[in-house]
Amino acid sequence: MKAGRLYKEIKGAEVMFGEPLAGHTSLNIGGRAEIFARPVDAESLSRLLGCAAGLPVILMGGGTNLLVADGDIKALVISTGDMRGIEICGGREDGGAIISVAAGEPLKKVLAFCLQNGLSGLEPLAGIPGSIGGAVAGNAGAHGLQIGALVRSALVVDLSASATVKKVSNEDLGFRYRGSSARGLITNVEIALKKGEPQEIKKLMVKNFDLKKKTQPLAARSAGCVFKNPEGFSAGRLIDAAGFKGARVGDIEVSRMHANFFINKGKGTAADFTELMGKVRDGVFKRSGVSLEPEIRMYLGDKNAGN
Ligand SMILES: Cc1cc2nc3c(=O)[nH]c(=O)nc-3n(C[C@H](O)[C@H](O)[C@H](O)COP(=O)(O)OP(=O)(O)OC[C@H]3O[C@@H](n4cnc5c(N)ncnc54)[C@H](O)[C@@H]3O)c2cc1C
Repeated sequence: MKAGRLYKEIKGAEVMFGEPLAGHTSLNIGGRAEIFARPVDAESLSRLLGCAAGLPVILMGGGTNLLVADGDIKALVISTGDMRGIEICGGREDGGAIISVAAGEPLKKVLAFCLQNGLSGLEPLAGIPGSIGGAVAGNAGAHGLQIGALVRSALVVDLSASATVKKVSNEDLGFRYRGSSARGLITNVEIALKKGEPQEIKKLMVKNFDLKKKTQPLAARSAGCVFKNPEGFSAGRLIDAAGFKGARVGDIEVSRMHANFFINKGKGTAADFTELMGKVRDGVFKRSGVSLEPEIRMYLGDKNAGN
């Protein structure tokens, strides 16, 4: 039994009631979830969905791209934190391999596995936090690579009580800029990688990570880029040009290092965050006529629509 909250297990799934989500998001923002659960596989997910029928479902990987409401959250939050495992599941004619990764594996661990096994392709993503499932659901990208380009297929579980598992091909995952059309919980991903020299792989990873450290506030509490880059523009530059670097609502501040990162400087709330988003969006529109769209995923209950 964990102190301070009700806790139980539904055959393999750790379940908590009234769990504060702030501890599960990189922004350190989020109220208490009615039910927070960590299923280990599709079977335990199915049991959970049966028990929590009627509650809206929020899917969570590493929580590094999420803004969730401050107050009580009437939802079943499904975390992939306990879905683990990485293995080579097939070879390629060019000497590369297909790896199979469970959704909850941190991207960082997947990159370490690639390095160990001389597998090349994911190096541009070095330094992106979060899980492989979240990266695939959102088609995470950096330095010209979007992860969807390397994904062969994914196992996706629909969120009905039957929790049917389907293998979905790359084409049917419908990858687009910072998004996919995966419907349901991705439990496993297959990624196709080339054979590479570990020294070269490491060099590239270090180079990309160093560049990221120089340009983004990686150590601060953020959810990465708040807005998508509009076609032909950098959202960060537009925000900077509109004079918002250092702008603040409550404890949420527009980073002085990279204006598309909003930082929680202490006791920031989702309400502060969305107010600052509104100010920035209006200011950018007034100055440049460009309308910014959120990149972060928001679950704000009745007041604001999620995305
Ligand atoms: C410092 C910092 C730097 C960042 N840099 C980058 C960057 O360079 N490029 C980039 O693209 N992003 C970046 N991000 C954003 C974020 O790290 C990525 O989008 C990451 O891939 C999100 O993964 P996650 O597991 O944390 O997803 P979460 O934040 O937990 O979830 C994000 C979305 O994916 C859904 N989701 C999560 N897991 C699953 C699953 N298994 N099945 C179905 N849906 C799921 C959630 O419901 C939610 O809608 C950065 C974030 C931070 C904090």
